Amino acid sequence: MTATSTLTNFDVELANPRISLEERQKRMLNLGFGKVFSEHMIVIPYTAELGWGRGTLKPYGPLVLDPAASVLHYGQAIFEGFKAYRQRDGHIRTFRPEANAHRFNQSARRLAMPELPEALFLEAADLLIRTEQDWVPKAIGESLYLRPFMIATEAALGIKPASEYVFVILASPAGAYFPQGVKPVTVWISDDYVRAAPGGTGAAKCAGNYAASLVAQAQAKGEGCDQVVWLDAVHRRYIEEMGGMNIMFVYQEQGETVIVTPELTGTLLPGITRLSLLQLAKQLGFKSEERRVTVEEWEAALLEGRMTEAFACGTAAVITPIGAVKSRKGEWIINRRETGPVAAKMREALLNLQHGITPDSYGWMHTVC
Ligand SMILES: *Cc1c(COP(=O)(O)O)cnc(C)c1O
Repeated sequence: MTATSTLTNFDVELANPRISLEERQKRMLNLGFGKVFSEHMIVIPYTAELGWGRGTLKPYGPLVLDPAASVLHYGQAIFEGFKAYRQRDGHIRTFRPEANAHRFNQSARRLAMPELPEALFLEAADLLIRTEQDWVPKAIGESLYLRPFMIATEAALGIKPASEYVFVILASPAGAYFPQGVKPVTVWISDDYVRAAPGGTGAAKCAGNYAASLVAQAQAKGEGCDQVVWLDAVHRRYIEEMGGMNIMFVYQEQGETVIVTPELTGTLLPGITRLSLLQLAKQLGFKSEERRVTVEEWEAALLEGRMTEAFACGTAAVITPIGAVKSRKGEWIINRRETGPVAAKMREALLNLQHGITPDSYGWMHTVC
């Protein structure tokens, strides 16, 4: 049973009955990441003939797909991820959602998919979050994770960009990524596999990049590591990313702290957390550099004491310190496998800003309600 009403760009069909307070509280215990979903979702259809159609806010549930839907065969699928935070002042705000709307369209172009007007992306997300206010957790480190995605739905096996798509947003209450406190990870430098090659899809947030990464992640696990570190496809020397996160190195040079992160060469995913930390670094009194870093430099700088920390960054976990690096050539330990002061300081600064504990001097927070 659904109750229907109409907004400017969306039809609204609310779940009826709604999940009870007791049931919701039960589902929001021990949240973890990406396991619990809220009661509604947004769906907007697209056809080449008519463009983007009227969106619907509707009860969360299965999508009906023709088994010939081209996403199932040729993989036209892109996604985004960002978070809504409940703030001390009672408002709910999202972090830089317009950057996600913008990147979504960059991914769409690379996969020959239609672009979604950024204002529609933002309106859809706000409508879903406003509807699901009760699903936004309160504690620091907790949030409502938004997962917008687009898939090709045309039933056709001919190889060409599909003529029909659907855009969907799901909302998933997320717990603290490290409920027992931040714990440095051990990484495996992959020399059997690459994530992205020049001219490929590395800068697009597409499903296929993840499918192709899983075997390397499994190999890293087999080597006793938590995550895989990717090298560039051409020289197999330059460090690109860690799993699905960007990577940063902390150097001490002439009494100054310098944050170094691999430059965006077209094979890296341009992370919004990466960009934000580069901007925050200045405010925290750190210098920053975007340049290439080789595996040999990583090892040498650690041994010489010039590099004091390394960490990965992304929306889901914010900052994940790296405590040890393993490869076929050996193993190095970073900062005695402990979280370093620079990673801790940057993590706290970003979390405080996202949760509204410190003022948003950058205009990064978007008030939803
Ligand atoms: C999403 C993603 C990131 C991090 O991007 P954020 O915008 O910071 O969440 C980094 N690397 C890859 C491969 C990704 O898919």
